[in-house]
Amino acid sequence: MKHTGGCHCGAVRYEVETDIDKVIECNCSHCHKKGLLLHFADKDKFTLLSGKDNLSEYRFNKKTIHHLFCKTCGVQSFADNDSYPKMAINVRCLDDVDTSSLTIEKANGKDY
Ligand SMILES: [Zn+2]
Repeated sequence: MKHTGGCHCGAVRYEVETDIDKVIECNCSHCHKKGLLLHFADKDKFTLLSGKDNLSEYRFNKKTIHHLFCKTCGVQSFADNDSYPKMAINVRCLDDVDTSSLTIEKANGKDY
């Protein structure tokens, strides 16, 4: 299924083709503070439609994950990485997804 999404102000927009069966709520220091609900989609099914130049990047820990957020509104709608063939989608930023209807799987990122 094709989904569209993006940041709050509308500068960053993307589309992604994936079936959202379950989402991950991770308790690591970063995901916890941002309230991210993540779904991992194949990178070749992800297309950034606009806002490439409006993205800023934050890295921490092993610095392999590119936490990309909009320079204008600060919202992180997805994350890229160096070593994994999937893109992390923040499901809260998809236009057509009701997060209250999703199965949430807890991930223990805090201990890694
Ligand atoms: Zn924005």
